[in-house]
Amino acid sequence: MNKIYLDNNATTPVDGEVLSEMLPFFSEYFQNPSSSYETAYFVRQKIEDSRKKVSDLLGCEPSEIFFTSGGTESVNHAIIGSALFLSEKGKHIITSSIEHKAVLSSCSFLKKLGYSVTFLPVDRNCRVSPDDFRRAITKDTIIASVMTANNETGAIQPVEELAQIAAERKILFHTDAVQAIGKIHLDVKKTSFSMLSLSGHKIYAPKGIGALYKKKDVQIFPLIHGGSHERRQRAGTENVTGIIAFGKAAEIAKEKTESERKQTKALRDGLLAKILENIPDVIVNTPADYSLPNTLNVSFKFIEGESLMTFLELDNIEVSTGSACSSESLDPSHVLLAMGLDHVDAHGSVRFSAGRHNKTEEVDIVVKSLKKAVEKLRKMSPLSK
Ligand SMILES: *Cc1c(COP(=O)(O)O)cnc(C)c1O
Repeated sequence: MNKIYLDNNATTPVDGEVLSEMLPFFSEYFQNPSSSYETAYFVRQKIEDSRKKVSDLLGCEPSEIFFTSGGTESVNHAIIGSALFLSEKGKHIITSSIEHKAVLSSCSFLKKLGYSVTFLPVDRNCRVSPDDFRRAITKDTIIASVMTANNETGAIQPVEELAQIAAERKILFHTDAVQAIGKIHLDVKKTSFSMLSLSGHKIYAPKGIGALYKKKDVQIFPLIHGGSHERRQRAGTENVTGIIAFGKAAEIAKEKTESERKQTKALRDGLLAKILENIPDVIVNTPADYSLPNTLNVSFKFIEGESLMTFLELDNIEVSTGSACSSESLDPSHVLLAMGLDHVDAHGSVRFSAGRHNKTEEVDIVVKSLKKAVEKLRKMSPLSK
């Protein structure tokens, strides 16, 4: 039986075209791009071509893109690098309560160094309020970081407006756009973003490659020190294969954003409609407006998402409960709790995230398996009536 993979917010498979593009750089064109012979120069050129492709996806200058080891490193670099650079100016950071662990842990680290952090709340729709942001700003605030779209619920944040407010108050604004790129259209030239983080493996490139967009005039400290790679922002011999792959993946993402938006949204909306039609006592955690087209987070009352996931797995269906990064912990998702769900309902949540390779026919198979599993689990549940 074929596997149905509905966990594309956790990671995506490497696209075939991306793989063919990167393969020659493992062996045929293996030279160090910093060397000074013809073949090395060729590799360097290819890295710059990739930088151009990533910048085209965002609508920025190639010189504003810095390659990193992934979304987590980009976020660390943006937040910690700017906080350290601006420590004389102030020591207050604003973020949201629904950020990815990469952001939350970078902020916790800065707290240990004497910085203070404000975590903005979200409403039932998983959205931060610009008014709350405005009120949280103090004389000491140096940087704000709010994600473009949430990985668990798909909620899109009013980041353009937040960045505008930050710019007026001369505060740097970083956004974790790892989930947003390739799914919704972004044009950083039209925004006041100072920095933006990207990851390759969420857009069909391999794991271990990412990028940081840093606006021309923004100055921060690098985190990794060594040679003069990445214009002295990120030392270390470049991950050439990863960079080549990321460039190709960005090119494809730019081409396909609109068609994939339609395709994944049709699948997501169909899945939601059929769930509501077939299964009672469901809470929809993904907001109806302002959400990523591919993401659906729902809580099935009286049962645990973990058990449901195990049942689906027996039918070869892969989904996630909340976030892959928190699956080793027994705490319910911090995102759902921040939205005001109680612990029991937060524990009953499952996330379905569609991608390029999902087919509409999969919806019926998934709903059939879900219905069967939910009925079975509810019969055994002490919570159900
Ligand atoms: C996946 C993810 C990250 C981390 O990216 P990695 O490349 O896996 O380090 C950061 N933020 C969000 C919103 C993500 O979904």
